[in-house]
Amino acid sequence: MPFQFDNSYVRLPQQFFSKQLPVPVASPAIVKLNQALAREIGVNADALSADILAGNVIPEGANPIATAYAGHQFGGWNPQLGDGRAVLLGEVIGRDDVRRDIQLKGSGQTMFSRNGDGRATLSAVLREYLVSEAMAALGVPTTRALAAVTTGEQILRDGYEAGAVLTRVAQSHIRVGTFQFHYARKDTDALQLLADHVVERHYPAAAKADSPVRAMLEGVIVKQAELVAQWMLLGFIHGVMNTDNSAISGETIDYGPCAFIDDFHPETVFSSIDRQGRYAWNNQPEMAHWNMAQLAQALGPILGEDAEVEAQKALERFAPAFTKAFYSGFSAKIGLVGDTETHRALATELMGVLTVGEVDFTLFFRHLTAGVRTGDLADVKDLFTNVAPLDEWLVNWGSNADVFLMEQVNPVFIPRNHRVEEALAAARTGDLEPFEKLHKVLSNPYREQTEHVEYENAPQPEEIVQATFCGT
Ligand code: AMP
Ligand code: MG
Repeated sequence: MPFQFDNSYVRLPQQFFSKQLPVPVASPAIVKLNQALAREIGVNADALSADILAGNVIPEGANPIATAYAGHQFGGWNPQLGDGRAVLLGEVIGRDDVRRDIQLKGSGQTMFSRNGDGRATLSAVLREYLVSEAMAALGVPTTRALAAVTTGEQILRDGYEAGAVLTRVAQSHIRVGTFQFHYARKDTDALQLLADHVVERHYPAAAKADSPVRAMLEGVIVKQAELVAQWMLLGFIHGVMNTDNSAISGETIDYGPCAFIDDFHPETVFSSIDRQGRYAWNNQPEMAHWNMAQLAQALGPILGEDAEVEAQKALERFAPAFTKAFYSGFSAKIGLVGDTETHRALATELMGVLTVGEVDFTLFFRHLTAGVRTGDLADVKDLFTNVAPLDEWLVNWGSNADVFLMEQVNPVFIPRNHRVEEALAAARTGDLEPFEKLHKVLSNPYREQTEHVEYENAPQPEEIVQATFCGT
């Protein structure tokens, strides 16, 4: 038996989901199986077959459903989204006692599919596999990838492409949009049931608070604030921070148009559909806060008599939580311990220096780290055409940096956009070697791997990825 399922979400009332079997596919084949993750989460990988991972065979104990949710997409309200191309097979409990969803994504049409085909392309599946696993290795809370299988079917996007199914693992797939779904329907009983479920599952300490719902809301707010800080410290731009892509667990979810900054500029946007720069690198805290305000509003009917005051107080937790996480993280990147006024000023000044210098974000911190280790900052200075602003910053920074700290937080390897695109382009022609190699390099991002130095490099001008497309 691959999974020892213990399904809790399916015990909620019927307005939370629809029972939904995956739609079988022509000829499934395993592309990638995450043995290490399987062990960690209590899944018997040996018992997993392509047929199970593609949805052709329903494993014992599964109770497949498509979950209901709503959401604000780029600020616009959509009262019904839901799993249009995914089914939740069930939940497993890991060796760490953590409950996790096992979801098949790309598993065919559901009652929430609207005009979509319910499928996912091999490119989109491998992209999510690569980047979500890289984020996990980088230490960022995220959904995980247990497996990728091809379906043996072609699906139509811009042209035809191989179809695939991703087995996604998440602490849950409950989103801000899940609460919004029931709020919009004025279903207060459902809101309360969902809040109880979330408290028990993700915020058990909140159960003991005077107001468990308020405590849960604060918990979500703080986790989102810290998550966005972690993203930004790695130069990560999520790209589609809609409320349906904002997980209540605090995990990163949805790897559609995400990208990592090469040359630093705070207003960087990659997603081709984000024309206003709503989800630009430096706009992410404000957008996460906006999402949390939507969550607070959705919880209004169960926040008690002074709901508005309670919501306001909870939302006030966001800014300090973000600022503290961001600046203490930034301090660590420059080898300084703790969040002080001086460190904040150094961080702000450095972001200005990097912006003006148009310097590669990841390389800068790695070269600075190496420079502290060797006492020679030549490689850092070489990144700049005009080194004067950097020199000034270096003087203010001083020489108290802790190189061990810097090595722990400044990755050598990130999923650089041009490398991800290269791996996906090869996969589309049937060559999985670049995917395998990139995946391997990214599984150990903070250690130098002398045999893979080429993966450290910034893109050559002709390799730069200007925009990401929601190639779903
Ligand atoms: P996303 O952009 O992946 O966050 O998806 C937004 C909504 O569109 C969700 O409700 C998805 O289930 C749905 N969706 C995306 N792609 C498809 C597809 N190919 N078929 C059906 N529904 C889809
Ligand atoms: Mg989504």
